Amino acid sequence: MTVITRTLIASALLFATAVLGQENKVLNLYSSRHYQTDEALYANFTKQTGIRINRIEAGEDALIERVRNEGERSPADGLVTVDAGRLWRAEQLGFFQPVKSALLDARIPASLREPGGLWYGFSLRARLIAYNKAKVKPAEVPTYESLADAKWKGRICMRSSTNIYNLSLMGAMMDHLGEANAEQWARGVKANLAREPKGGDTDQLKSVAAGECDVTISNQYYYARLLRSGKPDEREVGEKVGVVFPNQASWGTHVNISGAGVMKHAPNRQAAVKFLEYLASDEAQRYFADGNNEWPVVAGVKPDNPVLKMFGTFKQDALNVAVLGRNQPAAQKIYDRAAWK
Ligand code: FE
Repeated sequence: MTVITRTLIASALLFATAVLGQENKVLNLYSSRHYQTDEALYANFTKQTGIRINRIEAGEDALIERVRNEGERSPADGLVTVDAGRLWRAEQLGFFQPVKSALLDARIPASLREPGGLWYGFSLRARLIAYNKAKVKPAEVPTYESLADAKWKGRICMRSSTNIYNLSLMGAMMDHLGEANAEQWARGVKANLAREPKGGDTDQLKSVAAGECDVTISNQYYYARLLRSGKPDEREVGEKVGVVFPNQASWGTHVNISGAGVMKHAPNRQAAVKFLEYLASDEAQRYFADGNNEWPVVAGVKPDNPVLKMFGTFKQDALNVAVLGRNQPAAQKIYDRAAWK
């Protein structure tokens, strides 16, 4: 071998190492999250690992559609999105590969992750009953079931049943009550509606504050956002509304997650696993949860958020969130039979 050949081989090896090295230094993250605290979240990951993050941000469903179109050639390494129902949809589309991580298994509660390691919950949200303080006492709405009582006729606002939050709620109710009772419940609530289902959770809270209806259901972070808003009119909406953590004496309040998984065709698999493990660290937990007024999932990490502190602790539904996904198709059928819309 000539000196030149040896030099060529050596530089080729060096080049290959550099390229391979670089491969591990980047992470393509598809995320439907966009909060102020996310900047610190990502910057700290890069500082700790040297891995640069390319973020692709889009709406939840647009992101899933994008990965679907990209297929096997998708550059996505990880997908961050909200609601176990949506993570389940991504799972059904074959997006994820299983992750085996002793760290994730130890830190993420078993009920908040997919049992096969396909996706993990990194923050917790709860679906609460919200009521007009001037018209309703919290003791009148202790459970989701209570909303089907005829006393609420013409007094309830709800968003559409095609919404993933309501599908996941129904997924839990089916599990706890059985399908027939869950359907009875949907019919009861539908019969009590003050108006056709429309708008998002914030719209329901506004309707309750405005007196269009007296009771609704909303995720806690929409309520927290109103209370913490810089706009006086939004704070006023929040102050007219009270919330109940339902089913404290039975199966617990329905909870859901923001979560993430590693993509099946991830070009930077190791980096993606590292990122999930980072999300389970005490520091990242605070940023990730607080950005959306959600609770950290890792035991011992306390929320640093005035509204969550005010809420205190509550009994959560212990059902594995993967069941919420699995029950989605049946949940939609129940709502459809109840003509919830
Ligand atoms: Fe939301």
